[in-house]
Amino acid sequence: MRTFKQRVWVAILATSCGLAAGGFAGYLLGRVLTLNRTEARLEQYATRLIGEGQKSTAESRKVLAAMNASPFPRCSDAEINYFSKLIFESQYLKAGGRMHDGKIECSTSLGRATQTQVQYKPDIFQRDGTRLYRNLAPFRVGNETVIAIQLADSYIVYSPYNMKPVLNSSMQFTVTDVDAPNRAAGHIYGTAPKSEETYLVTNGQFRDGDYLYGTHCSPDGVVCVAAHVPISQAMLNNRLTVGGFVALGGLTGILVGFVCAVIYRRTKGFESQLLRAIRKDTLRIVYQPIVDLENEEIVEVEALARWTNEDNVPVSPDDFIKVAEERGFVGQITKLVVRHVLHDFAKTLRERPGFRVNVNIAAADLADPEFLPMLESALAQAGVAASSLGIEITESYTARQQVAKETILRLREKGHYVHIDDFGTGYSSLAYLHDLSVDAIKIDKAFTKAIGTDAVTVTILPQILTMADTLGLRVIVEGIETPQQARYFAQSEQSIYAQGWLFGRPVPPDAFLRLLEGKARIGEYEESIEGMGMVASSVSAA
Ligand code: C2E
Ligand code: MG
Ligand code: MG
Repeated sequence: MRTFKQRVWVAILATSCGLAAGGFAGYLLGRVLTLNRTEARLEQYATRLIGEGQKSTAESRKVLAAMNASPFPRCSDAEINYFSKLIFESQYLKAGGRMHDGKIECSTSLGRATQTQVQYKPDIFQRDGTRLYRNLAPFRVGNETVIAIQLADSYIVYSPYNMKPVLNSSMQFTVTDVDAPNRAAGHIYGTAPKSEETYLVTNGQFRDGDYLYGTHCSPDGVVCVAAHVPISQAMLNNRLTVGGFVALGGLTGILVGFVCAVIYRRTKGFESQLLRAIRKDTLRIVYQPIVDLENEEIVEVEALARWTNEDNVPVSPDDFIKVAEERGFVGQITKLVVRHVLHDFAKTLRERPGFRVNVNIAAADLADPEFLPMLESALAQAGVAASSLGIEITESYTARQQVAKETILRLREKGHYVHIDDFGTGYSSLAYLHDLSVDAIKIDKAFTKAIGTDAVTVTILPQILTMADTLGLRVIVEGIETPQQARYFAQSEQSIYAQGWLFGRPVPPDAFLRLLEGKARIGEYEESIEGMGMVASSVSAA
């Protein structure tokens, strides 16, 4: 079936879009969380590294001071032994000794130097007077970075394995010597993806290009550490988190897409089906008699639209008229109803001048400049007088609308009989109705339902009837279902018309005509589930 196929396609499209959009949103969310979390971890890491750095620096300062205060002859066995003891007792140091003018004179690990010594140049002159050497060749161990610090004529060599316990496989870092605020004196340790000045900005977390950073400087501002990781690496490290968000987003997207498809089907699908039904003229019109309570003779009939949708489900006019009103095509339904009414009853209406068919119109019709000409030409074509076509306008449409007032005036001028429908549910007072100058009010079925109960609406009924009488308005009571309700209104002095299941359900035109012609009796309908369960499937012969 075409509609089923359409439904499946809409569902597939909506869920696919939902999956894509949800998955993408999930990825973005996962990415933001991952980056923020990684930045925070980088900063923690930098702080930890600075802590380690401070401990090792404090130790080297202490040992260097002790070495410079050596009581032994320079580079004597006694002094080297003395240095060895200091180094042995230290945690971070591997060797120490004497050097002068960049030349190593002796060391705890290599003993006294030979005559042909290489002259090393310090890599950094630090603020406190120490000199820093990166990779003094004699102490190199494999590819490890070996850092040596010289103060006066003594030096120490840090163990290249100091950093091992704090190394992190997923993050890298760089340690920078700072000689003035925001100025790097030199690179001490690690790798730096950018110029080190970039990292000295402040303690904290930041993103620069393809990298995430967490930075921390020592309290004295002499050394700064920047831990860093490429964004792609951070994403890879957190692929489970990101994947989880993508999956969650995708599932949510599918769910939202599906719900949207259902809503779309209920609104847009509903709308296009209704428009198709109007175009193909598959709406049906049923007719419900209105009787004079005095003799129970049919005096009017109300035309009511019926629609069974493409899934074979009857839809209430309350629902489809509302959608047609909201989407601005209710006028097409009004036109269709008028056409059907005249097709079904033109002959009857010509033959029975006192009989009337009422059609319901909407607010949009009142404001539509095409509405009155449409009515006029349809009536003229059918050869039916305007007085034979009654108009029902729901009370709420007329409230405080100048345009409603003018259209009602013109309808009455043409000879139409104008009813205010569902009276009592809207906002208009009876005095306002007088101002509107209508012919009749149809008291809403809510009032009828309340008869025999203590509901406050019942107490208002006599007032409504009296005032309608005073204003010369005909009263039609809707929703009469029981003889008790009929009796309540029949007792009134004034002439009252009634409409309701007691006097006949809405039926197709041929069934109604048989009723009207006395070939069938009121109340002998058999209910059918066809068309909202209100359509008679058969009418008993009289
Ligand atoms: P309405 O104009 O007040 O029509 C009377 C409604 O009361 C109809 O409902 C009718 O079937 C129902 N009814 C009649 N007798 C009884 C009864 O004894 N008991 C109960 N409980 N209900 C009864 P329906 O056909 O469902 O129509 C609902 C509303 O939809 C109508 O209320 C009218 O406002 C609107 N409508 C129906 N057809 C059209 C149409 O062609 N054009 C426009 N603009 N509105 C329409
Ligand atoms: Mg009505
Ligand atoms: Mg009504």
